[in-house]
Amino acid sequence: MGQPSTETVLSALRCGDFKKSYLTQALLFGGRAQVGLFALARQRRDVFFPERKVEARSVIEISNICRQKCHFCNMHVSAKLFRYGIDPEACAKTLSFLYSKKGRRVFLLQSGESPSPSYMESVSQCIRRFKKEANDAVIILCLGNLPDEHYRQLREAGADRYLLKFETSAPALYKRIKPGDSLSERIDRIHSLHALGFEVGSGNMTGLPGQSFRSMVEDLMFLGKLPLTMMSTSVFIPGEKSRYCRKPVGNVDVSLNFMALMRLMYPRVLIPSTSSMEKARKGTQYLGLLAGANSVTIHDGNPVKFKKNFPIYSTHRITPGEEYIKKIVKKAGLFFCCRPLAPAGTGTAPSGTGSPS
Ligand code: SF4
Repeated sequence: MGQPSTETVLSALRCGDFKKSYLTQALLFGGRAQVGLFALARQRRDVFFPERKVEARSVIEISNICRQKCHFCNMHVSAKLFRYGIDPEACAKTLSFLYSKKGRRVFLLQSGESPSPSYMESVSQCIRRFKKEANDAVIILCLGNLPDEHYRQLREAGADRYLLKFETSAPALYKRIKPGDSLSERIDRIHSLHALGFEVGSGNMTGLPGQSFRSMVEDLMFLGKLPLTMMSTSVFIPGEKSRYCRKPVGNVDVSLNFMALMRLMYPRVLIPSTSSMEKARKGTQYLGLLAGANSVTIHDGNPVKFKKNFPIYSTHRITPGEEYIKKIVKKAGLFFCCRPLAPAGTGTAPSGTGSPS
């Protein structure tokens, strides 16, 4: 028996029929089929987020110190880099500036993975200081896989959300790309973060060396088993100074299709359209908004002197500023919003079309 037609797959997805064979076929959509998939994703987003707002987050890359050795990343433990960590006072000052002068209310503090107690104390101090004067601000952390007691400390200091990607739900592939870490431990951490009261975000990477379409479909299903209010996908980009430097960049259209399927399956969550997509192919961050995303990151909080020392996915990253982000949000028929968007509930297991409840 041949493949079902594009119309059959789109109609099944519209009705909440997320059979694995349909998902696999949709990951490969291009041309008109992809346009149809994106339109479905936008319809679903508009039902659950009728105000059509896009949450704008200011990012501050607070440290590039990392103990991990991910094969795709330029910041792995042995990379020859000037290592830095910004001091809590400077970090709190930057947050205050963005809060009072730019009106930002959502902040993403990102770093490599470093579980040192002094580093945890610095981050906690920064959050405490800032939250004293800005208790309506939302702090999102992306600091890697840390012991639960550190998560507790950060939560008590006032952090609100935490991003911890699982990258792939296939344990063997995970071990290959992140040999210093284990998938099961990471999943445990996601549950710990949730239990501590964080809103948690996670997701995968598409186009990893050795990753199959079947595995990506498993990632889509796996997302529904986690307690998430934010989900993400990014395209594989081999860091120029990483072990995978000669591997090909992932297929951006597959990533965009993955994003649209995430929106269809888990309509209540926040989904970012990232600048790494833009790096993989110009114009893709805008397409992410057309594929159902509803958050963006603005690179306006990084100390200029450290910017080039955070080459996480590339030594020539794209770091969009406010003007560009506002332009693509408007072009997508959406509204730029500095305030936190409330997720329309936690991620639901894939079942039916669902209505906002
Ligand atoms: S991806 Fe993150 S955890 Fe892995 S080496 Fe890079 S900075 Fe460290």
